[in-house]
Amino acid sequence: MGSDMTLDEKYMKQALKQAERAFDHGEVPIGCVIVENATGRIIGRGYNRRNSDKCTMSHAEITAIKKASKYIGDWRLEGCTIYITLEPCPMCAGAIVQARLDRCVYAAASDKSGCAGTLLNLLNVEAFNHQVATDKGILEEESQALIRKFFKRLRKNPDEDQPVSSFSSSVNASAAEP
Ligand SMILES: [Zn+2]
Repeated sequence: MGSDMTLDEKYMKQALKQAERAFDHGEVPIGCVIVENATGRIIGRGYNRRNSDKCTMSHAEITAIKKASKYIGDWRLEGCTIYITLEPCPMCAGAIVQARLDRCVYAAASDKSGCAGTLLNLLNVEAFNHQVATDKGILEEESQALIRKFFKRLRKNPDEDQPVSSFSSSVNASAAEP
C-alpha cells in the first residue's frame, strides 16, 4: 500500500497543477488527470472552465475524459484511473461510470454535490453495469487550501468572478464544486 500511496500522491499533484490553471483563469480551482494504469502515462488532463466557456459541461473531469478517449481512440477507459482534486458532482460521477474507468481517486470531499460517497455514491451502484473503485483524501489539505485561497481572493475582488460569488459566503471545499 505504501508505494500505491506515493503513486497516488504523484498523480494528484498533477491534478492540483490543473486546479492551479483554473485558479489562474479566475475559475474555482478544480483539476483532474487520467492515468493509463498499464503504462503510468497521463492520457488526459482537465481543469474547471465553466465560466470561461460559459458551459455547464466544462468541468475538469469531462474535459479530461474527452482528451483520454481521444488519445485511446475509444470511449471506454477501462484500465484507467481518474485523479480529481474535489469529489465529483452527479454529472461527472455519471460520466466516470459511463466511461468505465477502473478507479477514481479524489482529494477533498464535497458536501454540496459529492456523488462519490458523500451525498450519493454513483460510482458504486450495484444495479449499474459498471462500478468504480474509489479512494479519497489524497492531498486533501492541498486541495482545500487552494480552494480557500480562491474564495479569499474572490472576496477581495468580487468583480473578478461574478458567477461564483454566490458561493463566497462559504469558503469550505464543499461549496466549491461548480
Ligand atoms: Zn462535475
